[in-house]
Parts: sequence; structure tokens; C-alpha cells
Amino acid sequence: MAKAKTATKKASVPKALVKAVKAAVVPPKGASRAKKNVFFFGAGKADGDRTMKDVLGGKGSGLAEMSSAGLPVPPGFTIATGVCNLYYAERGRIPAEIEREIEDNLRKLEKAAGKKLGDVSNPLLVSVRSGAKFSMPGMMDTILNLGLNDQTVEGLAAKTGNPRFAFDSYRRFIQMFGAVVLGIGKDKFEHEFEGVKHERGAATDTDLDVDGLREVVRRYKEVVTREAGKPFPQDPLQQLRGSRDAVFKSWMNQRAKDYRRIYEIPDHIGTAVNVQAMVFGNTGERSATGVGFTRNPATGAKEFFGEFLVNAQGEDVVAGVRTPLPITELEKVMPKSYKELRTITTRLERHYKDIQDFEFTIEDDTLYMLQTRSGKRTGYAAVVIATDLAAERLVTPREALLLVEPISLSQLLSPVFDPTEWKKLPVLTKGLPASPGAASGQVVFTADHAVEWTAQGKKVLLVRKETVPDDIHGMEVAQGVLTATGGMTSHAAVVGRQMGKPSVVGAGALTILEKDKTITVQGQTLKEGDWVSFDGLSGEVKVGQVATRPSEILQVLAGGMKPEESDIYQRFSKLLGWADKERTLGIRANADLPDQAELAYAFGARGIGLCRTEHMFFGEGRIEKVQKMILADNEADRRAALNELLPLQRADFYGVFKGMHGEPVTIRTIDPPLHEFLPKREDLMVDVARLEVKGDNAGELAEKRALLARVEQLHEFNPMLGHRGVRLGITYPEITEMQTRAIFEAAAQLQKEGLKVTPEVMIPLVGLVKELRDQKVIVDRVATDVMKEQGVKFKYLVGTMIEVPRGAITADEIAAEAQFFSFGTNDLTQLTFGFSRDDAGKFLAIYQDKKILDRDPFASIDTIGTGGLVGIAVERGRKARPDIKLGICGEHGGDPSSIHFFHKVGLDYVSCSPYRVPVARLAAAHAALQVKVGD
Ligand code: PEP
Ligand code: MG
Repeated sequence: MAKAKTATKKASVPKALVKAVKAAVVPPKGASRAKKNVFFFGAGKADGDRTMKDVLGGKGSGLAEMSSAGLPVPPGFTIATGVCNLYYAERGRIPAEIEREIEDNLRKLEKAAGKKLGDVSNPLLVSVRSGAKFSMPGMMDTILNLGLNDQTVEGLAAKTGNPRFAFDSYRRFIQMFGAVVLGIGKDKFEHEFEGVKHERGAATDTDLDVDGLREVVRRYKEVVTREAGKPFPQDPLQQLRGSRDAVFKSWMNQRAKDYRRIYEIPDHIGTAVNVQAMVFGNTGERSATGVGFTRNPATGAKEFFGEFLVNAQGEDVVAGVRTPLPITELEKVMPKSYKELRTITTRLERHYKDIQDFEFTIEDDTLYMLQTRSGKRTGYAAVVIATDLAAERLVTPREALLLVEPISLSQLLSPVFDPTEWKKLPVLTKGLPASPGAASGQVVFTADHAVEWTAQGKKVLLVRKETVPDDIHGMEVAQGVLTATGGMTSHAAVVGRQMGKPSVVGAGALTILEKDKTITVQGQTLKEGDWVSFDGLSGEVKVGQVATRPSEILQVLAGGMKPEESDIYQRFSKLLGWADKERTLGIRANADLPDQAELAYAFGARGIGLCRTEHMFFGEGRIEKVQKMILADNEADRRAALNELLPLQRADFYGVFKGMHGEPVTIRTIDPPLHEFLPKREDLMVDVARLEVKGDNAGELAEKRALLARVEQLHEFNPMLGHRGVRLGITYPEITEMQTRAIFEAAAQLQKEGLKVTPEVMIPLVGLVKELRDQKVIVDRVATDVMKEQGVKFKYLVGTMIEVPRGAITADEIAAEAQFFSFGTNDLTQLTFGFSRDDAGKFLAIYQDKKILDRDPFASIDTIGTGGLVGIAVERGRKARPDIKLGICGEHGGDPSSIHFFHKVGLDYVSCSPYRVPVARLAAAHAALQVKVGD
């Protein structure tokens, strides 16, 4: 449980705030002419290491670390991420000093490789790859086989004695360079390739002989001259500069920007460029290329996992074009390399203390490592891997906590298919279970349609032959992703897992015609809009819509399953147990009804931070009573209506207190403008007109007219800034009186039954201390009355929400009256920015597109503006009342990065929706651990 904080600890808060604010405004690091911008690796040495991800990107730092560890890594160099920023700042120009640094490193690379770029008899070929700090699978560009030209291709052919390989590499290079650097459509090249194949009667690519490939190369060069208006560059240095710049440019392509938006990766961090000597997995049957994971990234199981292709180049595996073989097959075809790969990857996992995602190439029976990094995994796998690594003593429980992204825990709570319903349908086909979860939706064939249909409120499944990085926006909104080709490490699988999106890939029995919008399988044809369901854990695909049921964890929490029957529940609760030991923030829930309180408690919330009493008014048979209260035009009638509501509210509060087992419960007095409880003006006008025409029900007509008149009277131009919050309690004190009476009577009853509860009565939207004082008098009076009437004594607190900027600025005055503050960051954001919380959606997306705002400030706290006001209120509030309780109950209470801020600013607790409680527990632990290590 969260420990109580001491006043001394809190005194340091403003400093932490200043640090947090500074951290947010420090400009990104750029490349400087004085410092090192290019980092060499190879021959058992490296300029960089694993700690330099900011500078080298993930790939670059992994290559450096592996080189220094003596692993077989082809030599190369990394151009730092800062150069990417400089490239943009200088409008696409790289300063001469950095060009020189690159050329110096190229000389080193040539020395290490024993080959020279452009050398006709012994040419060096290189790959040019992107590599940002955070991996962005397939989003940026790559160039392979760079260094080939009309002369070096002959040299390569002679040196390897394999002209077919040399010309196949050259045609691949021209096509990649043409597409990526010169922006020529891939179809232009494919058209020529197919033409040559057709003329020479070649059924597949590999049927084409050297002469055929020479002809392809000739035609490809013509395509370049025609489309780019200049010949294909023969100078390798020019090829290198063009490729490097294209990688930098790809940092800002649409799909990379979409990806960063989804994963909240800042634009300013830039990508590094890795230039590395090529090794070839496509020289023949003794060569292969593959990717893998040290554990299963979908389920977390401890099994060597991956796939490979014999006689292929790296891109063939990840692009999902050919379905590769499982890595266990490698043991049969190349046992020596397989054994070596297992030894190396096991070593890497122990070194990095995390599941590794690696890429390798075998060239003529020699193994090379091309990448290692922490593997992306599903939320499910993350929990399994973290608890396993801790059990294997590879990591401590603290380190294990940091291996799980807080937000990914919500995947473990998402529904699964109802097994009886699922069994009723026949299996249509089975694919590879790439990312677990139950998905049911209407079939769409393009990412754009997925977005369109979702905007119309439909649930869609994105079905593609194979997904390409450009589909990212469709994958984001779809219920799940289903593809016909590709393996467990194809783009669809990698991105699906990372998004926690159920995915089944490589369902080879499906014939998908995206143009016709049909899927044929086993003689059956499905069209766009048909319902399909699949299980991402088994890979089974079925036609139809299937009902879902709660996840295993929820079933255990609800008592339908025993904890010992669920492995994942046990791991989940172990991990959260560790989190509770680390965090100092308390975790409460926003819950309005008894069953929500129960659920929140089961999820680990220890208290309610916000009970919105008005939500109770919408319960069955209540709204009429509420309307009666609103329609009353004098106090006596209003009191009579409130008296009818009193027992109902008392029963609700009784249930909520009980559901929280005596933990603190903050109950807020009525907040929304009253018209929200009345029918809409337009609807009433229609009713009145209809009754007038019919003329047969004078009683109902009079009633509707009265209602309409009151609705018109209550009409406000700006209800959010109107007669709501504490303003209601001040104008209708009898409402506050009834609500506090209901709270205290419920508390008294429980006290008599032996459950001690301490209600916290919270007044909303206070900006003036006198507003709070006015209401506090009522609350105190009712408390005294109830204690006297019931013959029991109970403790209670009176506090306020801080959600109006004036409230934050005058927090010292308000704290003189308030025993606690709860930051209502929804309204506080609205009022800080002057953005209506109901209308901002219309322009916030554009603000984010234009980079005026990085994030939606209603979802993730604006640490400087809204957060600045929170900081001021914390400091002033605590000065006036050192033992004041401070919490937050806006939507930000469940957002991990906001939780980080609330930890730093020194709040006592965060309160979020019940389903977010596990996420918040882990995020609070992360915040505590990260702050401890000096973040
Ligand atoms: C808030 O404003 O942050 C809050 C919690 O109150 P509500 O969302 O009910 O206005
Ligand atoms: Mg509010």
C-alpha cells in the first residue's frame, strides 16, 4: 500500500516541479560541429554502446554493443540522430565537416571489411538503414546492396563466381534506390521485370538466368533515366549520400508521422542512419536470413521463436511477401549456424536482461548478427516474461516492473470469446496466432475504409493480403487484423502485437481480392461488410459475429474462477504486488455505484476519489423525481421532491461505502447544470405541437407546456460556464442539505453495523473561498444533526475540487477551509486553455497535425499550463494547511505520463476509472522508480 507522506517530503515539491517543467522545455539536442557525429563499430570494437540510444538509435546502439562483445557483426558506422535534426534545420544540407567525418569512417569500414566502395575487383557493398531511439517497424526506408554499378557488378560476379547473384543484387539495388531515393513507383520496375520473365518463359523470379537479369538491369536503368530525367548514378559516394538523405527524409513520411502520433514518440528525436557492410543471405542454398525472438512475443512462453528464408535477403522476411519457415527448421538445414545463433541470442538476453528481437544472416555457412534489441511484445507476453525473468533471477522484481508498459495491462482485461458461442461456429480457416485477443467485425479491405467505417460507428476487421506500413491508421481503428501471407514476424504481426490488436496472419487458405472486395476460401465467398471473427490466441477464423465474455482476470476478480486456476491472474497480481511496494502515490477510483466500487476495490483501488452523485439520478425511477425537484417553483415543493430522493441516495452511498470496505470515499455534491436532467427543448416542442393538434389530452398538454417553459427558463448559452457546480448548491442550499444528509445517514448506519467510514464531502468548481465557506456551513450543520439524531459519532472531511484557475491561484485561502483538494483536471484543462471539453475534438486533431500541440491536453496533462496551476495549488495549499490531502480525479488520473507528473508534483493519490486501476498502480510504481534514478 501507499505510504503516508510526511510534510517534510512535501516541502521539496516545488523544486521537482521546476525540474519537470524545465525538462519539458529544453530544446532537442542537435548535432554540433564540435562533437562526434559518426560512430564506428566493427572488428571487436565500437565507439558507442548500449547506453547511447538517444544518439545512436536502437539499432546503432545494439550493433555497437554486439561488436564490443566480440559477436560476429559486419563492420559499419552510425550517423547520429542529431544529424537528422541538422538535416532538417539546414533544409536538406549536411555540413562539410560531417561529410568529412562520414568519409573518414567509410575508410575505416573499408579497412575492417578488406574491401573498397567502388573497387572494381573487390567491391564493398553496404546497407543503409534507419534506426531511431524507439523502433518503428517498417515505417522508414532502407537501401541494400549499395555500391553496385556497371563495373562493380562485374567485379562481384567474378569474385564470387556467381554472376546470377551479382546481377540479382544489382537489379534489387536499382529498384530500391529508384523507389526510395528517386521516388519512382515500384510498379514501373515490376512491369519491366514481369516483361522479361514473360519473354523468357520464367515462371518465378528464380527461374530467370544471368542473361535475363542483365536484361532486367538494362531496362531498369532506362526506367530511371526516363522517370528521373537523369541516369542511374554510378558513383558509389553519390549513391551513399542520396540514400542517407532519403533515410532522413523518411523520418517525416506520413506513415512514420502516424506511427509517432499513435505511440507518442516525439518528432524532434530524429533517426540515426546505419551504414554497414553487406553480408548476403542470397548467395545460394548455404545462405539464409531470418529474424527471431528469444521468447515468444505473443504469449511470453520461454521458447526460441522466429523464422527464416533460405537464399533470401533480409527484407523478404519482414515484408511478409513470402511465408518463411519456423526457426526450428534451421536446426535441420544448418545445424552449426543454428547452434551458434542459440548461444549468441541466449547470451544477448542475459546481457540485456530482456527478451531480444534479433536479425541474422548466414552467408555461405557463416553466421552474422545484424541487430538485437528489446523485443516488442503483447501486454500478455510482457507480464509472463517479466515474472519469468524474475523467477529465473535474471532481473529483480523492480527491474521486472520496468519491463511492463503500464498501459499494456489493459490488454489483459479485454474480453475473450464466450467459449460456448465460439464452439457453435465451424472453423473457416486457421492462420498464425500473431497477437492474442478476440476480434469480431465487418470485413473491410483497405485502411482508409477501416477509418471511414469506424467513424460511422461500425466495428471492422481489416483484412489484407499482407499489411504494409502504410496501413497503420487502419490497424489502429480496426478490431483486429487478418492477413493471408506473412509470418509471425511480418509487419502485421509486429505492429499488431505492439498495438495489442488481435491479429491472425498468414492465413494462406484465404484468397483475398482487394480490388473486388472479396475473400474466397473453401468454395465460400465473403464480401466487404460480412461479419468475421477470429481468435488471436489460437489463430482460428470463423464467419459470423461472436459474443465475448470477460477476460480471465476479470473472471477471477468477479469470483467466477479460482485464482489458482489462472496462471495469468497469478502473474498479474504478483507483478502488481511488487508495484504496490514501490509506489508512493495512493490509487483510488472514480466510481458512482456500489458495483463499480466493488470492482475498483477488487482491482486494487483503496478509496474512491470521485463519486459523481448526479450519475445516480439517472437510475431507474429516479429521473422523474429529479425533474419534480427541478420543476418546483418554490422551496417547499423542492424540499418535498428532495425528500423522495433522499432514501434512494442514502441507499446508494451505503452501497458505495460498503463496496470500498471502509476505505476513504469522496462524494461530490451535484455538479452539472440542471437542464441536463430535463428533456430536450426541441423534443418538447414537438410533443406540445402534436398534443395541440390532437387536442384530446389537456392534462398532458399542460404538463408538457410547463416542462417546456422551465426548460426555456433554464436554457444557457454556455452551460459549462453557467449555473453548475457550487453555484447550484449556493442557489439551492436544500440540494446540498439533502445530499449531505444522505451521505451522513448512510455513514451512521454503517457505523452502527460495525464498519467505520470517513466520508469526504467534496464541493465542485470552487473559485472563491466564500463559496466553499457557504457550503461548509451546511455540511457541518447536517453532520451535527445526523450524529445527534442517530446517536453515533463519525469523522468526516470537507474539501473541494480545484478545477477553476482562480481556485488554484487562491489555494492558500481555500485551504483554510478545505481539508482536501482534488484536482478536477478535466475542467481545469478546459478553463486553462479556454478549450471547450465538448467541442475541442474538432480542432485538436489539426493542432496536433500542425504540431501546435504534441498531445491532446484532455488525455495527457499539459505539464506547463494546467500542470503549472496544479503545482501552484499544491505549494500554496500545503503552506496554508500542511496536512491537506491532495488528489486528482480528472481523466488524467489513469494516464501513465500524467501519473508521472502527479508523482513528481507530490500528490497523495490519483483516482481513475476502475478498469484503469491496475495501469495506474504500475504507472505509479514506474514513476517512483524513475524519479529515484534521477529522471
Ligand atoms: C474534472 O473536471 O476533472 C472532474 C473530475 O469533474 P467532471 O469531469 O465531472 O467535470
Ligand atoms: Mg469538473
